[in-house]
Amino acid sequence: MRPAGHFSSAADATLLLIKFLHIQHPRRTLSKAYALVPAAGSGSRLGAALPKQYLEIGGRPLLYHALLALARHPRIEQVFVVLAQGDDQFRRYDWREFGARIEPLYCGGETRAASVFNGLLAARDSMAAADWVLVHDAARPCLGREELDRLFGELEADDTGGLLAVPVADTLKRGNRDSRVVATEPRDNLWLAQTPQMFRYRVLIEALRAADPAAATDEARAIEGLGLEPKLVLGDTRNIKVTFPEDLLLAELIIRGREEKPVKMRPGSKSGKRTARNAKKSGIRTRFRR
Ligand code: C5P
Repeated sequence: MRPAGHFSSAADATLLLIKFLHIQHPRRTLSKAYALVPAAGSGSRLGAALPKQYLEIGGRPLLYHALLALARHPRIEQVFVVLAQGDDQFRRYDWREFGARIEPLYCGGETRAASVFNGLLAARDSMAAADWVLVHDAARPCLGREELDRLFGELEADDTGGLLAVPVADTLKRGNRDSRVVATEPRDNLWLAQTPQMFRYRVLIEALRAADPAAATDEARAIEGLGLEPKLVLGDTRNIKVTFPEDLLLAELIIRGREEKPVKMRPGSKSGKRTARNAKKSGIRTRFRR
């Protein structure tokens, strides 16, 4: 038997912490929720002069689009934005639309995990141990309200927390150095991790403190390192991460598609006839025989 007060590992200590948090915050008490957006990357994979969070869609930086759904969600008290220490872009934009709901923190680190950790530390006076933190990439500008609602709906009463993710749809190939297929991997139970990832403040900060920053490419990985099992909440394939130049165009199409009101097309209606005419001009068949 281990003497009281001695833990075999960080995981033991954290499990105890989670139990404590649940005594403090029984499920019927709603914990507060905050968002934290790491936006201190250099975006080198895109090859652009600007860090990718400042590339623009419709005259507004990706960061703006990433903040929108979070800042508008009624459950989220405030959104903390972690910027690089020498960031000179953020203040070029007008953020007044968000008022006090967003707060910039100039404390980005070497890695994404370090930026999140520094941001959590800098926000410690605002957040209580059992409060929820939703960490969301600045490079994901297409997050929708429905996914956020699903995240809260499924995790609010969960012990561990979790993340948005989508099941892998394509067949998975393992290649060798010559790009030759050496195996076809089963895709059962495989998911693609997205953000936001939602965990309790104290558990998350302890998980990141214990994690290897190079291996912890997302918060869930750090939480897994404690022996916990984050819940996978169904996300949306449109919640893409902008990594390569072509992703920017796709993100723009998704955002435009959300902004435009869907046009109802009935056979014989003006818009239906117009669409059929345009389709005929471009050689698209609009009626099919059974
Ligand atoms: O580069 P990657 O796509 O993994 O970046 C994901 C998110 O993490 C981006 O929003 C980026 O700005 C942020 N990041 C950060 N600090 C770093 C590296 C990345 O805040 N040192």
